[in-house]
Amino acid sequence: MNCIETKNLSHYYSHDQAVIQQIDLAVPKGAIYGFLGPNGAGKTTTIRLLLGLLKLQKGTISIFGEDVQSNRIKILSRIGSLIETPSLYGHLPAQENLAIHARLFGIKKDRIKEVLDLTGLANTGKKTAGKFSLGMKQRLSLAIALYHNPELLILDEPTNGLDPNGIIEIRELLMKLNAEKKTTILISSHILTEIEKMVSHVGIIHQGTLKFQGSLQELQSKRHSGNTLSLITSDSVAAKRIAEQCSLSATIIDNKLQFTTPEHATTALLVKKLVDQNIDVYRIEEQHQNLENIFMNLIN
Ligand code: ATP
Repeated sequence: MNCIETKNLSHYYSHDQAVIQQIDLAVPKGAIYGFLGPNGAGKTTTIRLLLGLLKLQKGTISIFGEDVQSNRIKILSRIGSLIETPSLYGHLPAQENLAIHARLFGIKKDRIKEVLDLTGLANTGKKTAGKFSLGMKQRLSLAIALYHNPELLILDEPTNGLDPNGIIEIRELLMKLNAEKKTTILISSHILTEIEKMVSHVGIIHQGTLKFQGSLQELQSKRHSGNTLSLITSDSVAAKRIAEQCSLSATIIDNKLQFTTPEHATTALLVKKLVDQNIDVYRIEEQHQNLENIFMNLIN
């Protein structure tokens, strides 16, 4: 079952140009869904629509299986979100920021310690939020977003501006929440490598349209089709001729023979022929296309 589902979602800031066009999001329940795209792709607009912060113009949005238009308050009460710069009380410590949040939203204050522990802020004591590092501020904002134990977290670029350590801390926190509480998480980013270690699903948006959506494995399988095999032998020129006899279009780069990874049978045949003709095979390596390349290919 999908936790978030949109159909034909489009949005116009001006009459002539749609900033997002016919977006069909499908975020499975229990997933960590990475919503990826370069700056200006339409991620924040989509997220604002999901959260009812922009008026729905075209298409439908359903969250928890219910239409957002007609059940907005009920649905929002089950979501935690972090969008743009969060407003914290800089003159108050983490604990009091959470206490005010609980009071404002009429929620019990009994989860303060648990949430501070979860976000790694339990030892910040009387230090005020204004003196926190960017990573600590971001974790406090997350603590606020998840205070009411939401089933779904929607986070717009929560790792923006963080150093590598801060990014790892947020990643570990989100993976823990997902594993222990089964919280579904939609997280946007413009940097694939920042989120690829935590996501189970990916949606790639570019210029307002969804270019790819599926599991991380499906995205990774695209990688295998672009893999290359390289061979180091005792005679590259002769090896190239033999490769061509096996219908492989090979090139010699740095004394290595390179070609697109063929079927296993073709690789086996090539190696057999090389050995039969007394050409020594020193090394066979497969180079994987990295995910960043796939991402760039999808958006270019
Ligand atoms: P970023 O990573 O830079 O935040 P994004 O993927 O979140 O980018 P959006 O913020 O949704 O992208 O912006 C999509 C497009 O809509 C951009 O061209 C942006 O300039 C435009 N846009 C966003 N908000 C408005 C607005 N309030 N009025 C007019 N145009 C807007």
